[in-house]
Amino acid sequence: MAVITNRYIAIKTHINGAPKESDFDFKTETISLSVEPGSNDVIVKTLYLSIDPYQINRMKTSSSSQKASVFAAAITPGEAVDAVGVGKVVASGHPDFKKDDLVSGVISWGEYSIVKGGKMLNVVNLMGFPLSYHVSILGFSGLTAYAGFFQLCKPKKGEKVFVSAASGSVGNLVGQYAKLFGCYVVGCAGTNQKVDLLKEKLGFDDAFNYKEEIDLESALKRYFPDGIDIYFDNVGSEMLEGAVANMNIFGRVVVCGAIAEYTDARKRARLDMLDIIYKRINIQGFLAIDHLNVHGDFILTTVDHLQNDRIQVLEDISHGLENVPNAFLGLFSGDNVGKKIVHVADA
Ligand code: NAP
Repeated sequence: MAVITNRYIAIKTHINGAPKESDFDFKTETISLSVEPGSNDVIVKTLYLSIDPYQINRMKTSSSSQKASVFAAAITPGEAVDAVGVGKVVASGHPDFKKDDLVSGVISWGEYSIVKGGKMLNVVNLMGFPLSYHVSILGFSGLTAYAGFFQLCKPKKGEKVFVSAASGSVGNLVGQYAKLFGCYVVGCAGTNQKVDLLKEKLGFDDAFNYKEEIDLESALKRYFPDGIDIYFDNVGSEMLEGAVANMNIFGRVVVCGAIAEYTDARKRARLDMLDIIYKRINIQGFLAIDHLNVHGDFILTTVDHLQNDRIQVLEDISHGLENVPNAFLGLFSGDNVGKKIVHVADA
């Protein structure tokens, strides 16, 4: 029975503001790479980790998100941070998984994870695509963009769509789905290089650098002189205020995330409720996990776009477990372009 030293990452204490490298601890434990007879546990070697902004809400002393879903439950200081990723089965007592299977699901910020009862794991069907796609375009980011846009935004062809954090993992896909569907799409991002990428590589109709704008409400008026029909919100705060002020009658605001508010509650959006009432704006929050019923459609549609070169894959990959904290911090300063992933090991 092989016994190895497993390296993993924990938070030292709860994190209630902007995260810093010193908030994270690299720890080791000794684990056996075989399962006890009669156990249905699965031992997974981590290959790729999905780096996600919502994890910061799990790291707080308390947050409403922690009560909403098992995915968003509180992270305990000192314990390995659990996270979505893909890996390879090294041992399994579960009938659905066998040694060397590639799996996706909830593993941990560690080299190996012991997944009790194989809970929240699925065998990956590569479908001819790189493994990393299963934490990016074919993973939760893709499902979030697809379900959020098609199920929640309820688009009509020709409608005007605004997407924030548009060069990020979810945002770039929302913009691309919206363009493929026949909408007019404007995105915003935090650097001029990202803006060029949106317009030149991803086919957005227009894009702007929000950090160069003094007043977001008037910036949005410039980009949408006839108003916004759909706002796909990834950031909250002043961007949400500016978008609501520019929404058309019966406009839809779909609140996917509020990253500008995650690390600073003082930035919370203050919405003009009269705008919302008189323009009959529908503001809807959502969680991708509630939309697994469209997973099949999402995969079929996205694979078809990929096979016909209609959709671009934006991945931003760092290498090595030691780079996980830095990759995570980078989400809050806009370091990433596309889906942030850490490649921990080769299969
Ligand atoms: P991401 O967009 O790839 O990365 C985060 C990006 O947010 C950064 O690159 C940065 O880009 C931008 N950002 C960071 N701080 C900001 C600030 N203070 N103001 C404005 N923009 C800021 O991350 P993602 O995984 O695609 O997630 C996007 C949003 O969706 C997040 O809010 C996340 O929590 C949410 N989400 C929700 C669900 C769900 O089920 N509801 C699922 C997945 C993700 P810039 O260069 O543009 O600043």
